[in-house]
Amino acid sequence: MRPLQMVDTKTQYQKIKPEVDAAVLAVMESSMFIGGKVVTEFAENLARYHGSKHCIPCANGTDALQIALMALGLQPGDEIITPSFTYIATVEVAALLNIKPVFVEVDPKTFCIDPEAIEKAITEKTKAIIPVHLYGQAADMEKIMAIAAKHNLPVIEDNAQAIGCDFTFRDGSVKKTGSIGHIGCTSFYPSKNLGAFGDGGAMFTNDDELAAALRMIASHGQSKRYYHDVVGCNSRLDAIQAAILDIKLTHLDEYIAARRKAADFYDRAFADNKFITVPFRDGNNKHVFHQYTLILNDIDRDALNQFLTDNGVPNMIYYPVPAHKQKMFDAFGGSSFELPLTDWLTERVISLPIHTELDEEQQGFIVSKVLEFVNT
Ligand SMILES: *Cc1c(COP(=O)(O)O)cnc(C)c1O
Repeated sequence: MRPLQMVDTKTQYQKIKPEVDAAVLAVMESSMFIGGKVVTEFAENLARYHGSKHCIPCANGTDALQIALMALGLQPGDEIITPSFTYIATVEVAALLNIKPVFVEVDPKTFCIDPEAIEKAITEKTKAIIPVHLYGQAADMEKIMAIAAKHNLPVIEDNAQAIGCDFTFRDGSVKKTGSIGHIGCTSFYPSKNLGAFGDGGAMFTNDDELAAALRMIASHGQSKRYYHDVVGCNSRLDAIQAAILDIKLTHLDEYIAARRKAADFYDRAFADNKFITVPFRDGNNKHVFHQYTLILNDIDRDALNQFLTDNGVPNMIYYPVPAHKQKMFDAFGGSSFELPLTDWLTERVISLPIHTELDEEQQGFIVSKVLEFVNT
């Protein structure tokens, strides 16, 4: 059996190595390392794939979220509404700008922000809503956009885990997550569904003014070279990463199909097991399985984690501490939030290896070890 890993970026690279190596060498020969045609072309191709008018590349997904808040003009003391059940980057950027995160519950079925909880948390200080498409599954963007429109609030989608996910609206129209809100943010961290060979990120919008603001802030607040209109930052996607990503973008739909196939295998293997709840899927949302995350019922998760690790089965807890309980947010009253569903999930989730290179022998072994533990 090939060795098990949470993600296998090495085998994935081997399959496209000649193409990728040639593209990287071409950038080195050109010595256009920052900016230039390679970056612009990748941004155009990704915007087209995504169905967004503008794609503004940047240095990583965390920067994308921070620049989005800055472009929307949020000020210290403003509030954003966001789930606590997420990766820290979603909310850390708010704290960094002295914006208060107001944490709300997720729907325990989808792991994504609960639209009703958003509406209840809106105050006159609320200046944006940040849903997270966690593990590759879309939040209910139809309801979220309706609430946002009613209260005249912008929506920033954290699409770091869900690039390529299709969300279907009730009228049958389909849009990619990250292209629905006012700004979409994504990450090209190597293990993400569209992963670079280093760091990278991007922002998406259909609004020309916002696009100009995002671009300006990502580039030292410059409207033209050496004329700095606003305080910005330095956040760029380098040309080598763009060249690699442009090739991987042509494979993204295959990569998603491979992840979904692996998820189907697990789903079948765990169906009807009373100790395991497999990821929820519904028709209006094409889960792209950045993670394959189970909810354990009446199982000692730490013991399972240890057993799997001892048996060579990688597994992870995403995430062991919800954002509102992180020390980082003490100063923002994080611990004053009561989020029992979030706490409940935090204690019960476990993620199994899922990536584009898993084979059935590997998955069969993973499944047998999980079942051996839970059924005995
Ligand atoms: C990975 C990730 C980010 C941050 O992306 P980086 O490129 O690592 O900065 C933000 N939000 C979520 C949900 C993520 O998974």
